[in-house]
Formats: sequence, structure tokens, C-alpha cells
Amino acid sequence: EQAPVITVDGPGGAGKGTLCQLLAEQLEWHLLDSGAIYRVLALAALHHNVALDDEAGLMPLAAHLDVQFPTTGGDIRVILEGEDVSRDIRTQQVADAASKVAAFPRVREALLRRQRAFRARPGLIADGRDMGTVVFPDAEVKIFLDASAEERASRRLKQLQEKGFDVSFDRLLSEIRERDDRDRNRAVAPLKAADDALVIDSTELTITQVLDRVLSHTKVKL
Ligand code: C5P
Repeated sequence: EQAPVITVDGPGGAGKGTLCQLLAEQLEWHLLDSGAIYRVLALAALHHNVALDDEAGLMPLAAHLDVQFPTTGGDIRVILEGEDVSRDIRTQQVADAASKVAAFPRVREALLRRQRAFRARPGLIADGRDMGTVVFPDAEVKIFLDASAEERASRRLKQLQEKGFDVSFDRLLSEIRERDDRDRNRAVAPLKAADDALVIDSTELTITQVLDRVLSHTKVKL
């Protein structure tokens, strides 16, 4: 029998990353950050001078993507072609590039098996946009974590300000809206809640409140 999966989908900045890390720690399950795979592919394209709209050029990169996710002391690093790119993939430029390469159906197809390979005992927490709809449609527990674009922009603003970056709220909001539009409106695997997902709007919730809801939902389901 297959290992159980909890899928967590939703737009960028809704708190999926933090939620999934906490879930993985509490349950002692594996963690798949599928967005990191699209980000790494985008970075590989930028490194190899493959245009982000060149589907044929992206295909060999997607098929042979040399990426590893080693864990050191609870922290997951991202290694592309032997180089630690954990920080490099977190820029706005790479996020934007990731959502462009992620729009190609054949690119997504080429990354499917790689994502499904993360399913292992005792279980998997899968973070992304199409985890519950496409990659793990038979997941035992599906969560769709949403938040208003304004709330996501202000959370992001706070994070960046804490790191000493000077950015404008309006700019962040428009970047968030643009990426949302691209993710929600693409033809294949668009961002949307699976029919059997528990939808949680985190706009007015703390991360602890979100975690509690997910854990009690999980207890009922598993
Ligand atoms: O979640 P994250 O912000 O790291 O994802 C970066 C981009 O990768 C998203 O905007 C989306 O376009 C793409 N993505 C996707 N499917 C996933 C995860 C991410 O298309 N399962």
C-alpha cells in the first residue's frame, strides 16, 4: 500500500511553506516543496541561456534536471548541478521565471515522476499549486490555503523589511496579482482547490490557528 499524503495547495504567500514545515516536523513525515523544483528549473534556464518561453529548449533541462534536496539539521538545502542555490531561488525574479516555465504542459509532465517519487513512508506533506488536483489526486488529506492578495503582500513586505530590503507595498501587490493570474489562468494544472479539499482562508488567522485546523482535520481523515 502507498504511503499517505497531505497536499497543501494555494497561492504564493498564503503561508503554505511555514505550515508544511510545521506539519512535517510534528508528524515526522517527508516534505516536498514542488515550487522549489519549478524555481530550480527556471534558474537552470537562466544559467544555460534558455529563453523562458522556449518550451522545446526547456524540455531537456526539465528531463535531466540535476537537483538535490539534502537535509542538514532540519534545514532543507537546494542543490543545482552541485551548487547550493537555496538562496538564489528565493528571489522575485526567479519566482516570476518559475511561473512562466510552469505554464508549459510538457514541462509539467516531465517533472511529474520526480515529484511522485517523494511519496514514502511514513508519509508525505506536498506543498504546491496542483498537489491535490494533479500530482497526488488520491491524497488522503487535501488542504487549500488561501489569503487575500493584500494580506499576502503585507506579510511579504514585513519579511523583506526584516531582512533590510526597501520595497514598496504597491509593487509587491502588483507582482503577487500578476503571478496569481498566470497560475490561475493557465490551461494545464491551474491553481485551484480540489473538489475534496478543505479550504482555509488564513487572512485573519495566525499560523498556529491554521496548523490546529489542519491537524484536527487530519485526525478525522487518517
Ligand atoms: O510556491 P512557489 O512560490 O515556490 O512556486 C513558484 C512558482 O512555481 C509558482 O508561481 C507556480 O507558477 C509554479 N508552481 C507550479 N506548480 C506547483 C508549484 C509551483 O506551477 N506545484
